[in-house]
Amino acid sequence: MSRIRLHSKYGVNPAIPKCFYCLKDKNMIYLLGANGGREAPRNAVFDKEPCETCRGYMKQGVILISAKEPKPGEDAKNPFRTGGFWVVKDDMIRRAIKPESVMEHALKARVMFISNEAAKAWQLPGWDKLFGAVVDVQAAVEPLPEAPKEPPAQEGTIMEGGSNAEA
Ligand SMILES: [Zn+2]
Repeated sequence: MSRIRLHSKYGVNPAIPKCFYCLKDKNMIYLLGANGGREAPRNAVFDKEPCETCRGYMKQGVILISAKEPKPGEDAKNPFRTGGFWVVKDDMIRRAIKPESVMEHALKARVMFISNEAAKAWQLPGWDKLFGAVVDVQAAVEPLPEAPKEPPAQEGTIMEGGSNAEA
């Protein structure tokens, strides 16, 4: 068992690593100890090991993460994310991605950064809510439909509202 050198101020100097893919906290703690005198980052991505959840997603399908096309000089391996996160079946990847070499790479990597435009083209849910979403000009100039009138309340129907379980 190896001993950890303590940080003079932060002791074991714990850090909760974030998952590179979903950016959620991983179910683990790193004890960085002395860490060259630096305080451990409380939340940082340390590596590209997927968290348990993302590992599960990668078994079921391929993770798609929406991102901006990196500009020259930006880190193409960690592009600016625009908020979309989906898991799609391998079959969709096979049908939707060309050329074949890219499609095969996506199936192997189990994760892929995609542009907002691609999210729109594939009609992935929520594509229009992405940061810097592509605006469909034609849709934008259409007048907004009138708000539907409230249907008269009916006795004995409890369709609306759902349960409070999600609160
Ligand atoms: Zn994750």
